[in-house]
Amino acid sequence: MSEAAVLPISVALVFREPSQAQRLGRVLQAAIGEIETLYNLGQQRILLTRHLISDVPIRGPGESDWLLVRFMKRTWSSFTGEATEPPGIMWNAVPLGDQKLKFWEASQGKFVDTVNPEKLLEFVRSTAGVSDQQALLVVVDQRITPPEGFVYIIGKSYGPRDDQAIISTVPMDPEYWDIKEANPLALIKQRFRATCAAFIGERLGLKQCPEPACYMYRLAGDPEVLDGMVRLGAEHRELPELAEKGFSVPSGDPAAVQPVEVNPQPKGWQALA
Ligand SMILES: [Zn+2]
Repeated sequence: MSEAAVLPISVALVFREPSQAQRLGRVLQAAIGEIETLYNLGQQRILLTRHLISDVPIRGPGESDWLLVRFMKRTWSSFTGEATEPPGIMWNAVPLGDQKLKFWEASQGKFVDTVNPEKLLEFVRSTAGVSDQQALLVVVDQRITPPEGFVYIIGKSYGPRDDQAIISTVPMDPEYWDIKEANPLALIKQRFRATCAAFIGERLGLKQCPEPACYMYRLAGDPEVLDGMVRLGAEHRELPELAEKGFSVPSGDPAAVQPVEVNPQPKGWQALA
Protein backbone atom coordinates (compact mmCIF):
# COMPACT_ATOMS: atom_id res chain seq x y z
CA MET A 1 0.00 0.00 0.00
CA SER A 2 1.41 3.38 -0.94
CA GLU A 3 1.53 6.14 1.61
CA ALA A 4 -0.66 8.97 0.35
CA ALA A 5 0.58 12.44 1.21
CA VAL A 6 -1.30 14.31 3.89
CA LEU A 7 -2.74 17.55 2.53
CA PRO A 8 -2.12 20.59 4.73
CA ILE A 9 -4.98 23.11 4.77
CA SER A 10 -5.20 26.34 6.76
CA VAL A 11 -8.60 27.41 8.02
CA ALA A 12 -9.18 30.97 9.24
CA LEU A 13 -12.32 32.10 11.04
CA VAL A 14 -12.57 35.86 10.56
CA PHE A 15 -15.10 37.79 12.63
CA ARG A 16 -15.62 41.50 12.19
CA GLU A 17 -18.57 41.53 14.59
CA PRO A 18 -17.88 40.40 18.17
CA SER A 19 -21.55 39.41 18.49
CA GLN A 20 -21.19 36.99 15.57
CA ALA A 21 -18.01 35.54 17.05
CA GLN A 22 -19.98 34.73 20.21
CA ARG A 23 -23.00 33.48 18.34
CA LEU A 24 -21.31 31.38 15.65
CA GLY A 25 -17.75 30.71 16.81
CA ARG A 26 -18.23 27.41 18.61
CA VAL A 27 -20.76 26.14 16.09
CA LEU A 28 -18.34 26.70 13.19
CA GLN A 29 -15.41 25.26 15.15
CA ALA A 30 -17.40 22.11 15.88
CA ALA A 31 -18.36 21.77 12.20
CA ILE A 32 -14.73 22.10 11.10
CA GLY A 33 -13.68 19.41 13.57
CA GLU A 34 -16.43 17.13 12.27
CA ILE A 35 -15.37 17.51 8.65
CA GLU A 36 -11.73 16.96 9.59
CA THR A 37 -12.73 13.74 11.35
CA LEU A 38 -14.78 12.60 8.35
CA TYR A 39 -11.96 13.07 5.85
CA ASN A 40 -9.45 11.38 8.14
CA LEU A 41 -11.49 8.21 8.63
CA GLY A 42 -9.34 5.14 8.05
CA GLN A 43 -6.19 7.14 7.36
CA GLN A 44 -5.02 10.69 7.72
CA ARG A 45 -5.62 12.66 4.52
CA ILE A 46 -5.76 16.27 5.69
CA LEU A 47 -3.98 18.28 8.36
CA LEU A 48 -5.74 21.47 9.38
CA THR A 49 -4.06 24.50 10.88
CA ARG A 50 -6.63 26.74 12.58
CA HIS A 51 -6.49 30.52 12.83
CA LEU A 52 -8.92 32.84 14.56
CA ILE A 53 -9.09 36.54 13.66
CA SER A 54 -11.51 38.15 16.08
CA ASP A 55 -11.64 40.99 18.60
CA VAL A 56 -13.08 38.70 21.20
CA PRO A 57 -12.04 35.16 21.98
CA ILE A 58 -14.50 32.39 21.27
CA ARG A 59 -16.01 31.47 24.61
CA GLY A 60 -14.43 28.43 26.11
CA PRO A 61 -13.06 26.01 26.73
CA GLY A 62 -16.66 25.06 27.32
CA GLU A 63 -18.16 21.65 27.51
CA SER A 64 -18.19 21.18 23.75
CA ASP A 65 -14.55 22.21 23.29
CA TRP A 66 -13.49 19.46 25.64
CA LEU A 67 -15.83 17.07 23.91
CA LEU A 68 -14.18 18.02 20.63
CA VAL A 69 -10.72 17.38 22.02
CA ARG A 70 -11.75 14.02 23.46
CA PHE A 71 -13.56 13.04 20.29
CA MET A 72 -10.63 13.99 18.06
CA LYS A 73 -8.21 12.20 20.37
CA ARG A 74 -10.23 9.02 20.04
CA THR A 75 -10.40 9.26 16.26
CA TRP A 76 -6.75 10.20 16.08
CA SER A 77 -5.58 7.31 18.23
CA SER A 78 -7.64 4.87 16.20
CA PHE A 79 -5.38 5.42 13.22
CA THR A 80 -2.08 6.37 14.80
CA GLY A 81 -2.25 4.14 17.83
CA GLU A 82 -1.05 7.13 19.86
CA ALA A 83 -3.02 8.68 22.67
CA THR A 84 -1.51 12.10 22.07
CA GLU A 85 -3.51 15.14 21.14
CA PRO A 86 -3.66 15.57 17.36
CA PRO A 87 -1.68 18.50 16.02
CA GLY A 88 -3.70 21.49 14.90
CA ILE A 89 -6.59 21.09 17.30
CA MET A 90 -5.82 24.45 18.90
CA TRP A 91 -6.98 27.71 17.35
CA ASN A 92 -4.18 30.23 16.89
CA ALA A 93 -5.48 33.65 17.81
CA VAL A 94 -4.17 36.17 15.29
CA PRO A 95 -4.16 39.63 16.87
CA LEU A 96 -4.83 42.42 14.39
CA GLY A 97 -3.99 45.18 16.87
CA ASP A 98 -3.58 48.51 15.09
CA GLN A 99 -3.75 46.69 11.74
CA LYS A 100 -7.48 46.25 12.24
CA LEU A 101 -8.67 49.31 10.34
CA LYS A 102 -6.20 48.64 7.56
CA PHE A 103 -7.31 45.03 7.42
CA TRP A 104 -10.95 45.89 6.75
CA GLU A 105 -10.18 48.90 4.57
CA ALA A 106 -7.89 46.82 2.38
CA SER A 107 -10.58 44.16 2.10
CA GLN A 108 -13.43 46.52 1.26
CA GLY A 109 -15.60 45.12 -1.52
CA LYS A 110 -17.43 46.73 -4.39
CA PHE A 111 -20.46 47.51 -2.22
CA VAL A 112 -20.44 49.19 1.19
CA ASP A 113 -21.21 46.08 3.20
CA THR A 114 -19.17 43.56 1.25
CA VAL A 115 -15.59 42.34 1.32
CA ASN A 116 -13.35 41.81 -1.68
CA PRO A 117 -12.61 38.08 -1.52
CA GLU A 118 -9.19 38.14 -3.17
CA LYS A 119 -7.93 40.99 -1.02
CA LEU A 120 -9.24 39.33 2.13
CA LEU A 121 -7.49 36.09 1.22
CA GLU A 122 -4.25 37.97 0.65
CA PHE A 123 -4.50 39.84 3.93
CA VAL A 124 -5.35 36.70 5.90
CA ARG A 125 -2.33 34.94 4.38
CA SER A 126 0.04 37.71 5.38
CA THR A 127 -1.49 38.34 8.83
CA ALA A 128 -1.76 34.69 9.83
CA GLY A 129 1.51 33.73 8.08
CA VAL A 130 0.01 31.17 5.69
CA SER A 131 2.36 30.37 2.78
CA ASP A 132 1.20 30.85 -0.82
CA GLN A 133 1.68 27.16 -1.39
CA GLN A 134 -0.83 26.05 1.21
CA ALA A 135 -4.57 25.61 0.62
CA LEU A 136 -6.53 28.21 2.58
CA LEU A 137 -10.16 28.36 3.61
CA VAL A 138 -11.34 31.69 5.00
CA VAL A 139 -14.70 31.91 6.77
CA VAL A 140 -15.98 35.43 7.30
CA ASP A 141 -19.04 37.00 8.94
CA GLN A 142 -19.34 39.59 6.14
CA ARG A 143 -20.93 39.44 2.71
CA ILE A 144 -18.60 38.67 -0.19
CA THR A 145 -18.80 40.87 -3.28
CA PRO A 146 -20.77 38.58 -5.61
CA PRO A 147 -19.37 37.79 -9.07
CA GLU A 148 -21.07 39.38 -12.09
CA GLY A 149 -24.60 38.04 -12.50
CA PHE A 150 -25.03 36.91 -8.87
CA VAL A 151 -27.00 38.58 -6.10
CA TYR A 152 -25.13 36.82 -3.32
CA ILE A 153 -22.58 34.09 -2.90
CA ILE A 154 -22.01 31.64 -0.05
CA GLY A 155 -18.59 30.36 -1.02
CA LYS A 156 -16.18 30.44 -3.94
CA SER A 157 -12.69 29.21 -4.77
CA TYR A 158 -9.98 31.49 -6.08
CA GLY A 159 -6.44 31.35 -7.37
CA PRO A 160 -4.77 29.50 -10.23
CA ARG A 161 -5.14 26.18 -8.41
CA ASP A 162 -8.60 26.96 -6.96
CA ASP A 163 -7.07 26.06 -3.62
CA GLN A 164 -8.14 29.09 -1.67
CA ALA A 165 -11.75 29.76 -0.84
CA ILE A 166 -13.93 32.18 1.06
CA ILE A 167 -17.13 31.17 2.76
CA SER A 168 -19.50 33.86 4.02
CA THR A 169 -21.76 32.96 6.92
CA VAL A 170 -24.18 35.79 6.04
CA PRO A 171 -26.30 34.19 3.29
CA MET A 172 -26.42 30.91 5.28
CA ASP A 173 -28.16 32.71 8.09
CA PRO A 174 -31.97 32.48 8.03
CA GLU A 175 -32.03 35.84 9.85
CA TYR A 176 -30.43 37.48 6.83
CA TRP A 177 -33.44 36.39 4.77
CA ASP A 178 -35.89 37.36 7.56
CA ILE A 179 -36.88 33.72 7.89
CA LYS A 180 -37.95 32.61 11.36
CA GLU A 181 -36.38 29.28 12.26
CA ALA A 182 -36.70 27.43 15.57
CA ASN A 183 -32.97 26.63 15.53
CA PRO A 184 -31.17 28.90 13.05
CA LEU A 185 -27.73 27.83 14.33
CA ALA A 186 -28.48 24.20 13.47
CA LEU A 187 -29.21 25.22 9.87
CA ILE A 188 -26.14 27.45 9.67
CA LYS A 189 -24.01 24.56 10.91
CA GLN A 190 -25.46 22.17 8.33
CA ARG A 191 -24.95 24.65 5.47
CA PHE A 192 -21.44 25.57 6.57
CA ARG A 193 -20.41 21.94 7.03
CA ALA A 194 -21.68 21.03 3.55
CA THR A 195 -19.77 23.95 2.01
CA CYS A 196 -16.53 23.02 3.82
CA ALA A 197 -16.95 19.36 2.89
CA ALA A 198 -17.24 20.30 -0.80
CA PHE A 199 -14.14 22.52 -0.70
CA ILE A 200 -11.98 19.92 1.04
CA GLY A 201 -13.40 17.11 -1.12
CA GLU A 202 -12.31 19.01 -4.21
CA ARG A 203 -8.83 19.49 -2.76
CA LEU A 204 -8.67 15.70 -2.34
CA GLY A 205 -9.57 15.21 -6.00
CA LEU A 206 -13.29 14.41 -5.69
CA LYS A 207 -15.40 15.56 -8.63
CA GLN A 208 -18.79 17.20 -8.50
CA CYS A 209 -21.67 14.75 -8.86
CA PRO A 210 -25.40 14.65 -9.64
CA GLU A 211 -26.47 13.28 -6.20
CA PRO A 212 -28.47 15.97 -4.32
CA ALA A 213 -27.76 14.49 -0.87
CA CYS A 214 -23.99 14.33 -1.48
CA TYR A 215 -21.47 16.95 -0.32
CA MET A 216 -20.11 17.06 -3.89
CA TYR A 217 -23.49 17.89 -5.47
CA ARG A 218 -22.83 20.04 -8.50
CA LEU A 219 -25.75 22.41 -8.03
CA ALA A 220 -24.85 23.52 -4.50
CA GLY A 221 -25.05 27.25 -3.90
CA ASP A 222 -28.44 28.01 -2.43
CA PRO A 223 -29.01 27.63 1.31
CA GLU A 224 -31.93 25.24 0.69
CA VAL A 225 -29.78 22.96 -1.46
CA LEU A 226 -27.08 22.88 1.22
CA ASP A 227 -29.72 21.82 3.76
CA GLY A 228 -30.00 18.44 2.06
CA MET A 229 -26.30 17.73 1.46
CA VAL A 230 -25.57 15.39 4.35
CA ARG A 231 -23.04 12.77 3.21
CA LEU A 232 -20.46 11.64 0.68
CA GLY A 233 -22.05 9.32 -1.84
CA ALA A 234 -20.64 5.90 -2.82
CA GLU A 235 -20.03 7.30 -6.33
CA HIS A 236 -16.75 8.80 -5.05
CA ARG A 237 -14.76 5.61 -5.40
CA GLU A 238 -11.46 7.32 -4.61
CA LEU A 239 -12.45 7.32 -0.93
CA PRO A 240 -14.36 4.08 -0.34
CA GLU A 241 -14.05 4.33 3.47
CA LEU A 242 -16.12 7.49 3.40
CA ALA A 243 -18.97 6.21 1.25
CA GLU A 244 -22.41 7.06 2.68
CA LYS A 245 -20.85 8.76 5.70
CA GLY A 246 -21.71 12.23 6.91
CA PHE A 247 -23.77 14.14 9.44
CA SER A 248 -27.44 14.92 9.87
CA VAL A 249 -28.81 18.39 10.66
CA PRO A 250 -28.21 18.70 14.43
CA SER A 251 -31.30 18.34 16.58
CA GLY A 252 -29.64 19.32 19.86
CA ASP A 253 -26.93 21.88 20.71
CA PRO A 254 -25.35 22.87 17.38
CA ALA A 255 -22.05 23.66 19.15
CA ALA A 256 -21.74 20.04 20.27
CA VAL A 257 -19.52 17.83 18.13
CA GLN A 258 -21.56 15.24 16.23
CA PRO A 259 -20.28 11.76 15.51
CA VAL A 260 -19.89 10.59 11.91
CA GLU A 261 -23.11 8.84 10.86
CA VAL A 262 -23.63 6.14 8.27
CA ASN A 263 -26.21 7.09 5.67
CA PRO A 264 -27.66 10.18 7.39
CA GLN A 265 -30.95 11.17 5.80
CA PRO A 266 -31.45 14.56 4.20
CA LYS A 267 -34.35 16.76 5.08
CA GLY A 268 -36.22 19.01 2.67
CA TRP A 269 -36.66 18.29 -1.00
CA GLN A 270 -33.63 16.04 -1.28
CA ALA A 271 -35.46 13.49 0.90
CA LEU A 272 -37.80 12.99 -2.02
CA ALA A 273 -35.23 13.15 -4.79
ZN1 LIG B 1 -21.41 12.61 -4.80
